[in-house]
Amino acid sequence: MIVDAHLDIAWNAISAGRGFLSAPAPGYVISRQSLSAAGVGLVFATLYTAPAHAKHAMSTRFVYENEREAAIMAVAEVNYYKSCDLQLIGTKEELAAYVRGWRKGKVAAVLLMEGADPVETPSHLGAWTDMGVRIIGLAWGATRYSGGTGAAGGLTDLGLQLLKAMKRKKVILDLSHMAEQAVEEALDEWRGPIISSHSNARAIVPGDRQITDATASEVARRGGMLGISFYAHHLRTSGRASLADVVRHTVHLARAAGGPEFVGLGTDLDGGFDSRYAPFKKLEELKDLPARLGKHFSRAQVEGVMGGNWLEFLTRALPD
Ligand SMILES: [Zn+2]
Repeated sequence: MIVDAHLDIAWNAISAGRGFLSAPAPGYVISRQSLSAAGVGLVFATLYTAPAHAKHAMSTRFVYENEREAAIMAVAEVNYYKSCDLQLIGTKEELAAYVRGWRKGKVAAVLLMEGADPVETPSHLGAWTDMGVRIIGLAWGATRYSGGTGAAGGLTDLGLQLLKAMKRKKVILDLSHMAEQAVEEALDEWRGPIISSHSNARAIVPGDRQITDATASEVARRGGMLGISFYAHHLRTSGRASLADVVRHTVHLARAAGGPEFVGLGTDLDGGFDSRYAPFKKLEELKDLPARLGKHFSRAQVEGVMGGNWLEFLTRALPD
C-alpha cells in the first residue's frame, strides 16, 4: 500500500471546485480514481485554511479573517471528507483492521490540520479530535500559535498551551511550515510523536519551508517521520522537477535521519500547484518511483518509503 502524508483534498474541492470523486481536473493529478488506480491506500487528508492576510495564498476568496471563520472552514472540510465516504482512520485498531482488509482500489484517510488557527482555543481541541483530527501542524504562515513559513517567530503562549492539550489528546505534531525558532521551541517542549509531513532537504533547496539535517536527525531519533514533497520549488532550485529529484531528497534525508525507515511520501500534489509543478503529468507515473529508489535501497526499504514506514509510525503513534 502506498501512503501519501499530505493532500489538500477538501481545500481543492471547496475553494477551487476540484472535486475528489470524479477524474482529476484538467492539469491536476489527484482524485479518488487516480489514487485508487495508483495503489495509494492511505492519505493524510488536510484541513487547510488560508488566512485573508496572506496575499500570496491561493487565488480564492475562501479565506478567514479570524479564528471563528477558520473553524467554520475547517468543519466544512471535515464534512466534505465525510460526504465523500472517505473512511477516517483514528485509532491503532482501525488502522490494523484497514490494513488487513486492504486491496488495491480502497483509499482511507487520517485527518491532518495544517495551520492550527481553526482551534479557537486549546481547550476546544477535544472537539477536533472527536471529529477525527489526529495530526496538527501549528503553522502555515504565522498563526496565533506559531511562527511559520516566511514569518519568523517562535511558539506563542497559546502555542505552548496547545502542545500540552495535544499531548493529553495524543495528537501527532507536524513540524512542516513551522518557523525555525518555533521548531526549536517545540522540540524542547514536545515529547509526543512527531513528523514533518511535507518538507524537503534544506541542504538541497534552501529556504525556511524545508527541513534541516539537524531537525531531520532529531525527528528520527524520536521515532518520527519525514514526508517528501513533490512540489517543484521544494524539489529543485530551478527548472522542471522529476522523480530523480524526489529520489535525491529521499536519499539525502534518509542519510540525515540515519536510515530510509524514517522517510515516506508527503507529496502535497495539487496543493496550490498544478501538474506543471509536479514531477509528472499523471499520478500513475508514481509506479516508476520504486525502481528508481531501488538503485539506493533494498526492496524492503523501498516498500517502506512508499508506504510501510508511515504505517509503522501510525501503528505506534495513533491513540488506542
Ligand atoms: Zn503546506
